[in-house]
Amino acid sequence: MLAPYVDINAVIKAWRGLQLRLRTHFGEDVYRQWLDEISPASIEGSNLYLKTPHNLTGQFMVLQKIDQYLVQILQEDFPGLRGLKYTVEKPVDEERNLFSAPVSVAPPAPVMLSSLLTEEAPNSFDAGNMMEGTALDPRFTFENFVVGKPNELAYAAARKVAEDEKVSFNPLFLYGGVGLGKTHLMHAIAHEIRVKTPHRKVLYLSAEKFMYRFIRALRFKDMMAFKEYFRSVDVLMIDDVQFIAGKDSTQEEFFHTFNALIDQQKQIILSADKSPTDLSGIEDRLKSRLSWGLVADIHPSTYELRLGILQAKAEKAPMMIPANVIEFLAHKITSNIRELEGALNRVIAHAELIGRSITLEGTQDVLADLLRSYDRKVTIDCIQKKTCEHYGIKMADLNGARRSRNLVRPRQIAMYLCKKLTTRSLPDIGRSFGGRDHTTVLHAVSKVEELMRDDAAMAEDIDLLRRSLQFGGL
Ligand code: ADP
Ligand code: MG
Repeated sequence: MLAPYVDINAVIKAWRGLQLRLRTHFGEDVYRQWLDEISPASIEGSNLYLKTPHNLTGQFMVLQKIDQYLVQILQEDFPGLRGLKYTVEKPVDEERNLFSAPVSVAPPAPVMLSSLLTEEAPNSFDAGNMMEGTALDPRFTFENFVVGKPNELAYAAARKVAEDEKVSFNPLFLYGGVGLGKTHLMHAIAHEIRVKTPHRKVLYLSAEKFMYRFIRALRFKDMMAFKEYFRSVDVLMIDDVQFIAGKDSTQEEFFHTFNALIDQQKQIILSADKSPTDLSGIEDRLKSRLSWGLVADIHPSTYELRLGILQAKAEKAPMMIPANVIEFLAHKITSNIRELEGALNRVIAHAELIGRSITLEGTQDVLADLLRSYDRKVTIDCIQKKTCEHYGIKMADLNGARRSRNLVRPRQIAMYLCKKLTTRSLPDIGRSFGGRDHTTVLHAVSKVEELMRDDAAMAEDIDLLRRSLQFGGL
């Protein structure tokens, strides 16, 4: 297989974005100290040369550790890259000096990215790697997938299509929010089929790639070969189908491919971020086809599932991860599994780099920025309770009709905090305070702002309350 050509200018262009990811992944300190000054220099074969201004042992130790992660994120945009090499390049005017073998860091063996179907692609499509399926992530297997209430249906359905050659539901449509494991399950199906029934031809690709190939085929007048190719597979998997929303000609072609395969009793597996009926920008006739088979959703994770996933990852981690850290993460990082994994990786990477063991305090430090964004999700209810506690009044009074001064002030402050700390609208906030009007809320907000300007003690007191709401405890 010929590795796709990688353009150094494209890598240079993408570099800022990659730096940001390194920074979030490894934390500000490590980034500033070691990674900030690295930049792309050249491409040789499938290796990217990165230049660094110093020749420091510490830095090379760090580079060795980030190598795998960097290769992985680079490959998302540049699948042709296989490894990294480093050169020391002194700042302006100093002699340019290629780092020689003994000191250069040999990158760890790159993650093997294999693609299905590559060898079997029909000759009519020998236009480079165009007909490769998207690479499979070797970690996305059934073994590595932790099953819990939110994903048990999707998991069972995925196993069934992977194991049964007989098509029982067609298509299998997996849907759920971002980072909840759709792609993981799709790859797991492909891995499993490859092992269990290797004679079945599986093609896995994103809807975006499908469109890209379709457009290329149109441009190069290769439609016959395109159609033949997609109709020759036994199992077609298309990830993130929502991508073709509003792309009419791609949708049309997809519809035909879909029907042809279903007619031949070939298995189709699709994923999307919404159910077929909720997908917008997709034609009705296609939507109805999409829900012909089994539609299985993946729900947002529960605490138990997050705990299970973290425990599984912790077993494979290069160092001990204390139970209280795992519980803390499962409790705090609730948005999705990708973010949860990212947080754990950051904690591990940081501990490895500074050479200390993982602790709860260290974890809170490393993840401070991330945790703050979670803590910011304060509810109206929570604000009302805390305000009542703070000023020693009853909830019924806070929301009641009485207007005595010792009630009015706390009420206004609570409204102000609701406006500042939540995304709820003024009418919404008003309703939550015993059905008050939005103008009352507006008045409260400006009143409190005025008070805070004129009265430093008051400002401090309100700030204290605000901080206890934002950052207070678990
Ligand atoms: P999606 O495609 O739904 O956006 P992914 O499949 O890419 O999400 O999952 C995001 C990350 O979370 C991946 O690294 C995946 O391995 C991990 N993940 C998701 N669900 C699970 C699970 N149930 N068990 C283990 N890892 C999971
Ligand atoms: Mg995905």
